[in-house]
Amino acid sequence: MKAKIKPRINLENRTRLEEVIPLSTPMILFVDPSNVCNFKCTFCPTGDNTLIKKTGRSNCIMNFNLYKKIIDNLKDFNKPLKVLRLYKEGEPLLNPHLSDMIKYAKDSGYVDYIDTTTNGYLLHFDKIKSIIDAGIDKINISVNGMSDKQFLKFSGIKVDFNKYVKNITDLYEMKENCEIVIKIVGDYLTNEEKTKFYDTFGNICDRIFIENLAPCWPNFNVEDRLGITIKKGIYDQEITNDINICPYIFYSIIIILFICNLITLFILRSNKVKYKNSNKKNNLFLINKDQIENFTKYISVLQYFMDKAYELIYKDRIFIYSIEAMRVDDKIYNQASKDFTKLTIKLMGSNIYNIFLILFGEENTLFFNCSQYFDDKIEKDEIRKTMQHDIISSGE
Ligand code: SF4
Repeated sequence: MKAKIKPRINLENRTRLEEVIPLSTPMILFVDPSNVCNFKCTFCPTGDNTLIKKTGRSNCIMNFNLYKKIIDNLKDFNKPLKVLRLYKEGEPLLNPHLSDMIKYAKDSGYVDYIDTTTNGYLLHFDKIKSIIDAGIDKINISVNGMSDKQFLKFSGIKVDFNKYVKNITDLYEMKENCEIVIKIVGDYLTNEEKTKFYDTFGNICDRIFIENLAPCWPNFNVEDRLGITIKKGIYDQEITNDINICPYIFYSIIIILFICNLITLFILRSNKVKYKNSNKKNNLFLINKDQIENFTKYISVLQYFMDKAYELIYKDRIFIYSIEAMRVDDKIYNQASKDFTKLTIKLMGSNIYNIFLILFGEENTLFFNCSQYFDDKIEKDEIRKTMQHDIISSGE
């Protein structure tokens, strides 16, 4: 077997946080390219549609303009971030701009290293080529079954296991300097299946590991769901109970998607942490934990106002469409989004506006997010599409 048996993260030579915080530049930025997944794994909240609906989370793909703004804003830190992790809640390969995202961050010089984690199902030739060419440094693949039958059982998806392995073989052949890491959850595997895992994947990756499930999510009981008892940590380490504080908040920024086109969670900042170089611009990313407690509620309110504004302007002024129902000049089009945004902000009233200012850090960011929402809405507008279709067909 070519691959090293080693966890996907390096457990040796770790930086001791207590010796380096507060940090002037976070070590890692998580950006979620997609919060949806094509799998429905029994051990993962994202795979549970009913649960996700209850939380109010929309199914979203990261908007590329929004992403560019996030990366551009990293210029205010005094050195590049160690890692950009293009993964958080869903399947990153569902984002059609994933390779553009990798390339944009690489070219920016604001991050040293980029990795992602995928279930591997969409790793076909073109996709592989584009992300390797874009310069990704590491791809973690979570294998969710050792046969067609097991994939169906744990991921709820029909997977042709042989084809799946073939795709990963292609990836390994094309990987250039990118490190390929493969892991599987061992809790539901027999010893025979564990051996098969190493035999099947051990020669088509650089690192391989059998992980344990971990209770990562509050109110989502993995042990009950799978009928297992967790005795060891995710990387087979002993579990200790002496950690009471989540370390993520001290070294990372996490950007997830809650409602499409709106940046939602930036960083859960402990009240005690002070950033040495914290300045107004970087406050774009810093939100106090207490301030996001009612975030879902506030975002629903914002979305309500944006939909109201869209409806009002749309009804009164159809200026966003030319007479042929085609999109008008970009300048006017962008102005339309700005008009919608202005109206939204007026509709909010000053109290709600001030809450959003706190949540988004500054007016520019709030404005940018709202405009993106409208751009998207105009682009997807059904009436516009129908008009366009009718006119084109009547002219045929
Ligand atoms: S593939 Fe990953 S993100 Fe998707 S449902 Fe399974 S565990 Fe969750």
